[in-house]
Amino acid sequence: MEAVELPDPSPQHGEIVVSVASCGLNHLDLWLKQGSTGDDLRLPRVPGSDVVGHVTELGAGVDPALAGKNVVIYPGRGCGGCDWCSSGQPSACRGFRIMGYSFDGGYAEKVVVPAESAMVLGDDPDPAWAAVPVAYVTAWNALVTKGGLEKGKTVAVWGAAGGLGNAALRLAEAMGAIPLPIVGSEEKASWLAATGWSGDIVVRGEDVATRVRSLTGGRGVDMVLDHVGAAAVKSSLRMLAVRGHLAFCGVTTGHLVEMDLRQIFGKQLTVAGTWIGDPSDMRDVVRFLGQNPQALPVVQASYAFDDARAAQDAQADPGRSGKVVLRSSGPAEA
Ligand SMILES: [Zn+2]
Repeated sequence: MEAVELPDPSPQHGEIVVSVASCGLNHLDLWLKQGSTGDDLRLPRVPGSDVVGHVTELGAGVDPALAGKNVVIYPGRGCGGCDWCSSGQPSACRGFRIMGYSFDGGYAEKVVVPAESAMVLGDDPDPAWAAVPVAYVTAWNALVTKGGLEKGKTVAVWGAAGGLGNAALRLAEAMGAIPLPIVGSEEKASWLAATGWSGDIVVRGEDVATRVRSLTGGRGVDMVLDHVGAAAVKSSLRMLAVRGHLAFCGVTTGHLVEMDLRQIFGKQLTVAGTWIGDPSDMRDVVRFLGQNPQALPVVQASYAFDDARAAQDAQADPGRSGKVVLRSSGPAEA
């Protein structure tokens, strides 16, 4: 990864230029560097899927009211022409791509994006907004849009100190659901407590499914958010209550498993896969966080753009908790 001078982007019809104030990091940034994900990736590429900034230029046909506004960017883009795209569901489009992964993103001074990708924030937005898009849109889609999570329902959350898991934990708690966080170490359990979580925490190493079942009086949970994949999915199925829902959105520990399908059949489970989410999910997230700012992400480390390499090292650290972001000015502060 190296810093280069690129020509200033100029907005086409329907597009805007956003001056990047901060850009959050995700595992996608690391996959881009690593390659071999099965996705069609081309280099060079400017990483960065989570962008917050202000609108500096408008292309033709864009609502002039957007000028100068602080915005957070929906990072997905579909082909624009298929039935899914036409109905506002680009994340189901065969041509769905993600900013900073399949096209250039936010490790930059400026990005050019379709005006409809920009969601307006208020004056002086909380810097934590830069850690919202990928994690919170994925969590919202998995928990709420597809999973129907609501007040009073129980949800076990794997990796609850990481970006996606912590988004799910904070959203679920703020909506009055009963989350049950699962973390990989005592250090991560302490971090959760330090960031305000006061409920039960399950630490991996114990029999996770048995522990979750006992914490729910033997019943099991209504929902599990699993982005861990091979190492977790059998436990996820075991800890679900009858007619529970597996919200499945990642395979960080591998994608091949041998499993007992009677778990799904016998307990009448539903399994839903999600891959990011749609603009409607992002609008819901922006509205919800506007009303529940306590559910904004925990930014654990901020770096200047010049220190992007150090930021990626921090992102790659398996002991990390919380989110890592790049900021357009100011010294590193980890
Ligand atoms: Zn499409």
